Amino acid sequence: MTLRPLLDPQLIYLEPAVRAYARGREILARFPQARQVEIDSHWRNPELYRAAAAAEDWLKLKRDVLVLGVKKGMTLRPNGRSADFIAPSSSNGCAMACSYCYVPRRKGYANPVSVFVNVDDIVRSLERHAARLGPKTEPNTVDPAAWVYDLGENGDLSVDATISRNVEDLVAAFRAIPNAKASFATKWVNRDLLAYEPQGRTRVRFSLMPAEMAKVVDIRTSPMAERIAAVNDFVAAGYEVHVNFSPVIVHEGWEAEWRRLFQEIDDVLTPAAKAQLKCEVIMLTHNEALHDVNLAWHPKGEDELWRPDLQERKVSEGGMVNLRYKVAWKRRWLDQLLGWMAQTMPYCTVRYAF
Ligand code: SF4
Repeated sequence: MTLRPLLDPQLIYLEPAVRAYARGREILARFPQARQVEIDSHWRNPELYRAAAAAEDWLKLKRDVLVLGVKKGMTLRPNGRSADFIAPSSSNGCAMACSYCYVPRRKGYANPVSVFVNVDDIVRSLERHAARLGPKTEPNTVDPAAWVYDLGENGDLSVDATISRNVEDLVAAFRAIPNAKASFATKWVNRDLLAYEPQGRTRVRFSLMPAEMAKVVDIRTSPMAERIAAVNDFVAAGYEVHVNFSPVIVHEGWEAEWRRLFQEIDDVLTPAAKAQLKCEVIMLTHNEALHDVNLAWHPKGEDELWRPDLQERKVSEGGMVNLRYKVAWKRRWLDQLLGWMAQTMPYCTVRYAF
C-alpha cells in the first residue's frame, strides 16, 4: 500500500497574480492533477469557508486543498521570546491538525496551507531589516550574537517544503546575512531539509511532548521518536537544533511521562547535539472557542486540554477567552518540570519558560 503524502493537492485556489511569478508557475506545474480555481484573495475565500463548515471534513481539506497567494504587507514584528523578530510569513496554515493549535483562529478552523509565491520579496525585506539593525552588540536569551527571525509563526515550514522551494530559498538567504539567523518550530520531520546547507545560520526547533499525549493531541505530526532521532541528523547537516517542550499539558501521571521523554532524549542525542541544545518550555493555554470547535471533531483531546478544575479564564487583548493553568499552580508545575529536566539533561539551557 502506498501512503498518500500529508499534503496532496487535488484543488488549488489561487490569486490570478500567482501565475506571474516563476515560483507560482513552478508549484502549479508540480501538481498537474489539481483543479485550479481563481480567487480574489487568499484571505477571503467564501467557497473554502463553506467547505470548512463541516468539522469532519477538515482533515480531508488539509490534505486535498492548497491555496496560493502573493504576500502584500512585509511587516516584521518584534518578539523577544522564540526570536528577536517575527518575519513576514512565507505561508499560512498547516497540513497538520494539533488540537491546541492557535494558528487557525484568524482563518477558519480547517486552515489548509496557503503558500506565498513572492518569497524573493520576503527575503529582500529580511535583508534590508537586518542591514538596518547592524551587529547585535548585546547578547540576549534568544541568541548571544545574531538577530533571530522566526520564519514559521503561521504554519510549519517542514511541510511547506514539500510544496515549493521557498524554505530552501530562505535557508540559503540566511547563509549570506552575517548578523542574522533564521528559526522555525516544527512537528514534522522532512529529511529533504538535510540537503539545504544551512551552515549554522538556521535554527530548527523540534517541538516535543510525551508520546502518550502526542498521540491524543498532535494530529498528523511525526512520531515523537522520529523527531528526537532527527535532532542528531539536523545538527550533523549544519542546523542549530533546539527543542520546544510545548505545550506542556498537566494531567494525572504527567511526571512519569515527562521523565521518560527527558530520558529518551538523553539516551538518543549525540554529544554534538547535546553540546548545542537549548530549549523553550511553554505551558498550555487553551481557548474557549477552540474548545467548542474541537468538541465537534476531536472530543477525546478535550479531556486533556479542557481542564476547568486546573485552569482559570483570562480574556485576551483581542477579546478571546483563554484558559490557562491557575497562576500559583502553573508556577509550581513549571518549576517541577524544569527540575525533572535538569536532573536528566543538565546540559540543556532553558532559553525561556512560561
Ligand atoms: S504543527 Fe504547528 S501550525 Fe501545524 S497544526 Fe500543529 S501547532 Fe498548528
